Amino acid sequence: MRIYNTLSRRIEEFEPLEPGHVRMYTCGPTVYDYAHIGNFRSYVWEDLLRRALKLHGYRVTQVMNITDIEDKIINKMAEEGLTLDEATAPFIEAFFEDLDTLRIERAEHYPRATDHLQEMIELIGKLRDRGLTYDSKGSLYFRIAAFEAYGRLSNLENRQILSGVSVDSDEYEKDDARDFALWKGVRPGEPSWPSPFGEGRPGWHLECSAMSLEYLGESFDLHTGGVDNIFPHHENEIAQSEGATGKPFVKYWMHAAHLLVDNEKMSKSKGNFYTLRDLLERGHEPRALRLLLLATHYRSQTNFTFDALAQSTSELQRIDDLTARLERDQTTQAGSNETFDTKVDEEAAEFERSLGDDLNISGALGAVFRLVRDTHVALDKHELPKSSREKLAAAFARMDGVLALFERPEVVLDEEIEALIVRRTEARKSRDFAEADRIRDELESRGILLEDSPDGTIWKRRLG
Ligand SMILES: [Zn+2]
Repeated sequence: MRIYNTLSRRIEEFEPLEPGHVRMYTCGPTVYDYAHIGNFRSYVWEDLLRRALKLHGYRVTQVMNITDIEDKIINKMAEEGLTLDEATAPFIEAFFEDLDTLRIERAEHYPRATDHLQEMIELIGKLRDRGLTYDSKGSLYFRIAAFEAYGRLSNLENRQILSGVSVDSDEYEKDDARDFALWKGVRPGEPSWPSPFGEGRPGWHLECSAMSLEYLGESFDLHTGGVDNIFPHHENEIAQSEGATGKPFVKYWMHAAHLLVDNEKMSKSKGNFYTLRDLLERGHEPRALRLLLLATHYRSQTNFTFDALAQSTSELQRIDDLTARLERDQTTQAGSNETFDTKVDEEAAEFERSLGDDLNISGALGAVFRLVRDTHVALDKHELPKSSREKLAAAFARMDGVLALFERPEVVLDEEIEALIVRRTEARKSRDFAEADRIRDELESRGILLEDSPDGTIWKRRLG
């Protein structure tokens, strides 16, 4: 595989440190609210990466941290009078539900910050022993001036970093605007833990360095996140990890571009802010959102619009229609269709090759939809023998191991709807076409589409 490495600013051949095994770290959610679709743009892309690595034969060990102690959480606790657990537990649960809804494969480890205080304290101890920290009013800071390699990932001149006013939003006193808190001294009413540096709590950047060290070792292959994580978060992770171990932290850094809504940055004040749950409440199909989020290359901005979601829904419908048709149209037809079989091999190879080319998703989806179209044509001509269907099913299964779009959710048909279909069939038999049409319209208004064929009436649920 070839991937774009933010650190070198070029496309590189991907070679993990340990042959055949990819160790990968992903910055996870801060659990004080429901994740929004911009967050899921990153998580869905990281799922694509993970699944593409597996398609290319790698074993993957992925770690995603759960930030369950942070300023936003503390603000929520204060505003709503909640304990730390009360403020975070519902959103941790919601996060995992949302991952399942979007068919995001589970990482191997989801460490929580509050379960790893000891590891974080040990890491700070190492940095302190190496002279990279200083104390100011009960908090401990990382001294950027003592770490020469700072700024390599984001390629920012020191001058630019210094001029940024919003480098760190906390109100503690620092020697240098770039310096960041490793350990924040306790303040009244805030949760805190004992440490050799006094009572307090860890800085946000620290947890990723401590968790990756614990679960993936001093040096590992891949670190992912959104572009807004590059500076300062990922720069600070590098400073902490390499500062403590003296070894290279991460070989390949990958970052996804932002998600826009109607070509604008998503924000609550603009009224263009959506969580996954908002879209589900409006009746949208989660697979359509997954397809929409997947379909733009990760290094390009994705523009979410309801038109684009409708477009993804109709593309998904093409896949579902084919799946339903293949289920319906079982055959024992013998023989072979070599032209079709060759086509299947070519498109399967194109799919894999595209993903290996820095996750070229357009190329991969192109292969899938050409195969969908050609299968319809072969079915129309009754030229799809059993052997070709089996070959096709295997190819689609392999593709769907990456896309996770084909499998349809279990549809339970209300007894009432079933009864209506029976009544409509009876009305047609007794030539009461007005009644038959009325029932058809009623079902359609409930999102159930009917198709009459010589073998009887089939129905399908309209997506989205
Ligand atoms: Zn992180």
